[in-house]
Amino acid sequence: MTRRYDVVVVGSANADLVVGVERRPAAGETVLGSDLAVHPGGKGGNQAVAAARLGSTVALVGRVGDDAHGRFLLDAQRAAGVDTRAVRVGGAPTGVALIVVGPRGDNSIVVSPGANALLSAQDVRASRDLLSAARVVSLQLEIPLETVAEAVAVVAPGTRVMLNASPSAPLPAPVLAACDPLVLNEHEALEMLGGATEDTPEAWCTALLERGPRSVVVTLGARGAVAADPSGVVRVPGIPVVAVDTTGAGDAFTGALASRLARGDTLAQAVGFAVRVGAAAVTRAGAQDSFPTAEQVPAAEG
Ligand code: ADP
Repeated sequence: MTRRYDVVVVGSANADLVVGVERRPAAGETVLGSDLAVHPGGKGGNQAVAAARLGSTVALVGRVGDDAHGRFLLDAQRAAGVDTRAVRVGGAPTGVALIVVGPRGDNSIVVSPGANALLSAQDVRASRDLLSAARVVSLQLEIPLETVAEAVAVVAPGTRVMLNASPSAPLPAPVLAACDPLVLNEHEALEMLGGATEDTPEAWCTALLERGPRSVVVTLGARGAVAADPSGVVRVPGIPVVAVDTTGAGDAFTGALASRLARGDTLAQAVGFAVRVGAAAVTRAGAQDSFPTAEQVPAAEG
């Protein structure tokens, strides 16, 4: 019998290769940079680790290459307690993000999807039992859209589907209709709405809800987040912290949201918790390395 999981993530795993530079090279130019730092990343892998670190039972459905980066990413997942039996190995190099950090902390990133691009609808069907054993299935858009659509199609009726629609892409109606919630940051929300608007984040949420998802969450960086479902709109203010590194804040937030929705929290309660987890994550360097355990999450006020 398949055991029950709080959260099953179907998504990407990348090795983040980071080098700092004083100045970005122009085309044809070579510059010297800092020592290379290699971190486990990818939205799927990050969100799985975020939820596991908060105490949820988590499995990842994904693909990595049969190479050193792949083994490194699997080790990072397992160290956080994520079940990686549904991560297929081989067929292409492990996905990589080449990250150049400028003198003001400004990032330029090239992503090579590698094995992530091979995660197929068939892989999802092969993990059908696992998906059916999940309270929450959590998806992002660093894998082929048809794979995301298949995951939506095979989940059991009682399983809640979350989609962090990042990076931005047009979504088919059946995928949008399954999202409970659709999770976006401010830029992604404005892009989906078709450009800048003078409306408030509450109004963005209401407009996004009209596109078909069951619920919507928009993260607002230091300003917190806003959520909407048919019962209304809730704004959760940010937690004032000294931000050291905002890498992976959105993934910490989304993993925390999945973790709490799996526990049966209301959307408003889960967003309240996720805002505190996001704030904790920005106070420490790195992505997965910065994700808090339940004890490290700042207490709610009042
Ligand atoms: P993304 O990383 O996807 O762009 P955001 O920047 O909106 O997402 O951050 C996600 C969440 O992380 C926010 O909703 C908030 O809870 C937290 N967060 C991000 N930046 C800060 C910050 N400077 N101070 C406090 N919390 C932050």
